[in-house]
Amino acid sequence: MSYDLSEISHQLFELLKRQGADIDRSELIAEIHDFLAMLYGIKPVFLHGRGLAPENWIEEVLNLARDLELEIIEGPFWDATPYGEFPNWYHEHCRAELKPYRAWYICQDAETVDAVQSVNSANGRLSIPKEAKLLGYPECCVNAHYARASHYHRGTLSILKRLTKGNEKQMQDLVRGGAHLAPETEKEIKHFDAAFEIHEPELGSWNMCASCVRSTNQASATLVQQYLNLIEECGLKLG
Ligand SMILES: [Zn+2]
Repeated sequence: MSYDLSEISHQLFELLKRQGADIDRSELIAEIHDFLAMLYGIKPVFLHGRGLAPENWIEEVLNLARDLELEIIEGPFWDATPYGEFPNWYHEHCRAELKPYRAWYICQDAETVDAVQSVNSANGRLSIPKEAKLLGYPECCVNAHYARASHYHRGTLSILKRLTKGNEKQMQDLVRGGAHLAPETEKEIKHFDAAFEIHEPELGSWNMCASCVRSTNQASATLVQQYLNLIEECGLKLG
């Protein structure tokens, strides 16, 4: 189906204008571009409701998606974290933390609906290549996202181990009790630094891997160019 992207962009930017002053404007603009990129066919699925967007924004974008008769699938947060290296109790804790959250997966075609539903029926567990493909992000960057997540988990486990002298029962109690875990050793600080090293592209909502940042890999640059083409062809606003 073809959409009037200029008109839809106009509606989304009007919606943005009605948001309060305390919103993260750049995050919502990235969402607008992602929504349009899904309609334009750059990405199969627009992931909605997983960021820090205010509730009325989430609701109004859902209303727009309904007006456009798009497929809207509510489901759990997707998670491709490779938990294999972590103890079972820690893996279960991470999965339990994600469980209360819901997101909306918005797409256009039946084949994508099937793919989204199969991930959702696996409680949001999926492979990294599948997540990259469905969300339309470079696989190298999705890999890097989960590598950062693994650094975070390694750092967390290292802190728990240090605080409890390796007593697994106490480690579990601490993490489940939501203790504030501050890195102290060189190893812990390194893991946390790596976990929070974020590089955003010029456009779009993924975080770039080191190769894309150095331009030794063109995956992010190619995708940014597709966004720029979309913006130019449709006469859309950059921000
Ligand atoms: Zn990359």
